[in-house]
Amino acid sequence: MYPKTHKSHRVGWLRAAVLGANDGIVSTASLILGVAAAGSSQQAILVAGVAALVAGAMSMAAGEYVSVSSQADTETADLKLEAMELAEQPAQERTELAAIYTKRGIEPVLAMEVARQLMAHDALAAHARDELGISSTVSARPIQAAFSSALAFTLGAAWPLLLVMMFSSQLMLAMAAGSLVGLALLGALAAKAGGAPMLRAAMRVSCWGAGAMALTALIGSLFGVVT
Ligand SMILES: [Zn+2]
Repeated sequence: MYPKTHKSHRVGWLRAAVLGANDGIVSTASLILGVAAAGSSQQAILVAGVAALVAGAMSMAAGEYVSVSSQADTETADLKLEAMELAEQPAQERTELAAIYTKRGIEPVLAMEVARQLMAHDALAAHARDELGISSTVSARPIQAAFSSALAFTLGAAWPLLLVMMFSSQLMLAMAAGSLVGLALLGALAAKAGGAPMLRAAMRVSCWGAGAMALTALIGSLFGVVT
């Protein structure tokens, strides 16, 4: 057997970062395409793009903060309740923990002994991990989550904005192609870091991006005809 490192523990934060950057590219590029298809000036397109970046980053931060905070609140409340139960009825709690181990395949007598030893070591940690599924290493950090999501979105959104500044003619073509390349690279990078197939990830993310951009370009061109 050769040693192989598992990568699924990396997937949590990586997934959040890639999701944020993806979001930044897709939403900003789509908005820019819509505005450009309506026949706006480069100046107007740039203003719309920057506004999309700021609005998106703030929205990501707020959403992530609220979501992670409520998760943290739930975990805190669960742990408090568990600590109370442990103080009030340690015997039942030990039986409860042992039952969990029995269900996982350990024979009842040994399960009781495992529960006893783990609870003697750190009762709350044992219950938090095996009964509630809360491990101390993944406890939620709202501010950090909000900041990193906003940063990831900003980095993603910066790419289409850069394309606007580089291509004054053939902007729509450059935007569509450049954004798809960006999305594919991002998907492949995430897949590589997570140990998943790269091509499939790149294709998947590009398809969704292409769909979003096609739709907004269509809507923009419909409005453009009116003016
Ligand atoms: Zn318990």
